[in-house]
Amino acid sequence: MATHISDAIIMRTWEFGETDLLVSFFTSDRGRLKGVAKGARKSRKRFANCLDLFSLVKLEYELKRGRELYFLHSGKFVHAFPGIRSDFSSLSLASYMIELTEILFPVGVVAKRMFELLNGSFSALDEDKKIDKLRILFETKAMALGGYRINLDKCCDCGRPYAGEGRAAFKQSKGGIACLKCGQESKLSPGLGPSTVKALRVIQSTPWGKAQALDLTNEMVHEIKPVLKLHIEYRIGQRLKTAEYLD
Ligand SMILES: [Zn+2]
Repeated sequence: MATHISDAIIMRTWEFGETDLLVSFFTSDRGRLKGVAKGARKSRKRFANCLDLFSLVKLEYELKRGRELYFLHSGKFVHAFPGIRSDFSSLSLASYMIELTEILFPVGVVAKRMFELLNGSFSALDEDKKIDKLRILFETKAMALGGYRINLDKCCDCGRPYAGEGRAAFKQSKGGIACLKCGQESKLSPGLGPSTVKALRVIQSTPWGKAQALDLTNEMVHEIKPVLKLHIEYRIGQRLKTAEYLD
């Protein structure tokens, strides 16, 4: 049976049997997977520090016959992102990122760009503490990668192309923006200024590095937050458990 080595982010672990650990991890080349680390709780040699939550590691694993579970052979530690564990808000945001990823990406769905987003977000969260901005970048990109891109190109009611001028109102059930002839700004239909719409377009369509370099003003943050909240709640159909620690 073939052995694979993948870069992976450790998402979750559970105690399993007497001495084993069940591990959920997101790989760069095979998406989200689950595996058993035999004896990992007894001997820490094979997996020294590399099954810690949120860590970036190189995992060696193979598929167990006839099962969806992988058998983890060994791991090599790459980066632990210690800054994530240094304060409660970073830890909460990282946990929230994991939960949203698990909902959007079923086990085994290959998603290289989602791995890049997780890795990039954890790296940024490790270094700086712009919690609001990192949350917005992550939510927008993760939803887009998961198939729920916000339609910012035209009015979702009359179809008129949005030329990048004037305000627009977000419509939750359509997952897009409406012109102010078709929609009115309200709490359930929050308004977005032209520069905010432009910023959202950039976040949705550019790679992580470019999106991260974007300068989000306080006004943009203020406008985008309620839109993402409504969008995620509607598309996911539930409120994320970890969201309550963030709000
Ligand atoms: Zn319209």
